[in-house]
Amino acid sequence: TAGSLAEEMGYGVYLVGGSIRDLLMRKPSPDIDIVVEGDGIAFAQELSKIINGKVIPHRRFGTAKILIEIEKNGEVKRFSIDIATARTEYYESPAALPKVETSSIKKDLYRRDFTINALAVKLNTKDFGLLLDFFGGQRDIKDKKIRVLHNLSFVEDPTRAIRAIRFSEKLGFKISKHTENLIKLAVKMSIFEKLKGPRLYEELILLLKETLPHYSVKRLADYGLLKILHPSFDEKLFNELVKAHETVQGMELLFLKEKYRKEFIYLVVLLWNLKSHEREEFLKRICAPENVKKQLIENITSAEKALQNFPSEESFLEVYKLLSSLNIETIILMMIYAEEQQKRAISIYLTKLKEIKPLLRGEDLKKLGIQPGPVYKKIFDEILKEKLQGRLLSKEEEIEFVKKF
Ligand code: ATP
Repeated sequence: TAGSLAEEMGYGVYLVGGSIRDLLMRKPSPDIDIVVEGDGIAFAQELSKIINGKVIPHRRFGTAKILIEIEKNGEVKRFSIDIATARTEYYESPAALPKVETSSIKKDLYRRDFTINALAVKLNTKDFGLLLDFFGGQRDIKDKKIRVLHNLSFVEDPTRAIRAIRFSEKLGFKISKHTENLIKLAVKMSIFEKLKGPRLYEELILLLKETLPHYSVKRLADYGLLKILHPSFDEKLFNELVKAHETVQGMELLFLKEKYRKEFIYLVVLLWNLKSHEREEFLKRICAPENVKKQLIENITSAEKALQNFPSEESFLEVYKLLSSLNIETIILMMIYAEEQQKRAISIYLTKLKEIKPLLRGEDLKKLGIQPGPVYKKIFDEILKEKLQGRLLSKEEEIEFVKKF
């Protein structure tokens, strides 16, 4: 579809970036990135008419997203296609168009981060499937190498250093010696002092989303990049991230109903030992979205407070009372930093106590002739206390208990 539309509109259209890399590595690829030598937004609009999608254009960047919903066996699957206009200044001059056709995709690819991400496959029906590899991306995939396209790559965009580590960990590739030297040189030249802003936040989150983020953070430290993120970040963080990772893995085995984002747990571990104004400053520097910033700070504060107020003796009711008002992220954080006895109590809460609550409701008490008032809370607390001890399993037993109360 895209290929014949490309021919009709007279544009060169290419599949680019990570999806080609994944394709060559025979891995499933979640993203579809398309680059158009022409008007990317117009192409997205025409394509979406054919495939029944919804277009979200970003005129400032000449890009568009097509959202598609496909129903299969009663299940709705959503995915998106990102469409960009090939970035080249030549484009203004139609007279140069024939010559520019290949050079504009080449220029677009030259602006990318690593050779393995700078491959393109032509989608036009005429040359369908033609693989463009100007910078040795196929060879680097074969050799498992992360390599930048030119010496100024990190000067141009310092966040690429974080991406290099992410891809290296994610794909099991080595960062090439030359690229490694360029990172070290950039550190020496204080290029990374400029590392800030929303792109830094996005890359940090992507890094922490990977399966073993503690290794990536160790690699950041090896390159001297961790101190650049924050001067007080050091290798001790690695051990804390290992603990966090073990906790997150343990949580996965519990099949909790609540969803949480593990990358935020790791981000909080980075922040944990900072003073409160330093946390604020760090989150501001990386331009974490306001709602995320607020939630993370709130979680840290609640977890610290709850750990301080943790019941010293093993009272299920007290543990229940403390933890039931907290969100799952806060409880996971507590689990990371808790002492052994506290950890055991939190585990019991998550595996056994959490789901326990009185089966009777207010209206049941009313039916039993009890007038609404503060006594209701007292009754529910007493029922809960009994249930937490493993008694009063049925509603009838709860009624009998209330009658005696
Ligand atoms: P993943 O599968 O992990 O998402 P990806 O390659 O699709 O990997 P994205 O972050 O989605 O990674 O980026 C898509 C493409 O955009 C990359 O393949 C790369 O070509 C280009 N790109 C992204 N970030 C940069 C950057 N900082 N500098 C240059 N090119 C970039």
